[in-house]
Amino acid sequence: RFVVFDGPDGSGKSTQFRRFTDYVEAAGIQVCHVREPGGTAVGEHIRKLLLEYRDDQHGQMDLHCEMLLFMASRAQLVRERIAPARQRGELVLADRFISSTLAYQGTAGGMAIDAIRQVGHVALGEHWPDLVVIFDVDEKTAASRLSPLLDRMEQKGSDYHRKVRQGYLDQAQADPSHHLVIDARAEPDIVFDRLTTGLRERAAA
Ligand code: ATP
Ligand code: C5P
Repeated sequence: RFVVFDGPDGSGKSTQFRRFTDYVEAAGIQVCHVREPGGTAVGEHIRKLLLEYRDDQHGQMDLHCEMLLFMASRAQLVRERIAPARQRGELVLADRFISSTLAYQGTAGGMAIDAIRQVGHVALGEHWPDLVVIFDVDEKTAASRLSPLLDRMEQKGSDYHRKVRQGYLDQAQADPSHHLVIDARAEPDIVFDRLTTGLRERAAA
């Protein structure tokens, strides 16, 4: 199976991702865990480029270029890491995936969702996730979690972050069988309980 953890900045998805990865590894399950952008040598170069230009005040990187770079990193990740791991029967866990591009560059950035999906078909081939877990938080809770994050969030403005959150919720609503929305406003232990309970319910269904 291929499961993605995703959500807005400050949703705590990376905290839950690390915790869940440790949990399944301790249970003796073979896991391939990846983060993106990055996760491969080529992808880490692309990540650096994206991070460099994210803080660029002159807005030199066009949104289309940004979207294609995220997707390029993902194409490499799919062929180099994800597809072989699935072939070996491992559980694949990803911190962010195409759901991020749909929410950030799509719903929030204004790019057409269908266009992103079309590029996604080229980048992913048949390797679409079985399940996308969305850690949902309101913007105030997200902003309160980290001050460096605050700087990052203020740069794009609160309207942008509201749209990012809505973008994730829209994806879940459009395709409920491939999404699991977790209320991530509580403390980490409680969110983790909600996550494992939610995943168990899905596995049993
Ligand atoms: P990023 O975009 O930075 O990857 P993220 O959503 O993955 O964001 P984390 O890196 O997991 O978020 O957490 C951001 C900050 O919030 C960290 O300082 C973390 O310790 C804290 N945090 C994570 N989960 C919770 C929680 N449930 N309650 C309070 N604080 C949390
Ligand atoms: O560490 P993390 O993956 O959360 O950070 C990546 C950064 O890139 C975040 O600030 C996120 O807002 C941004 N991002 C983005 N578009 C994506 C994926 C991530 O703007 N498609």
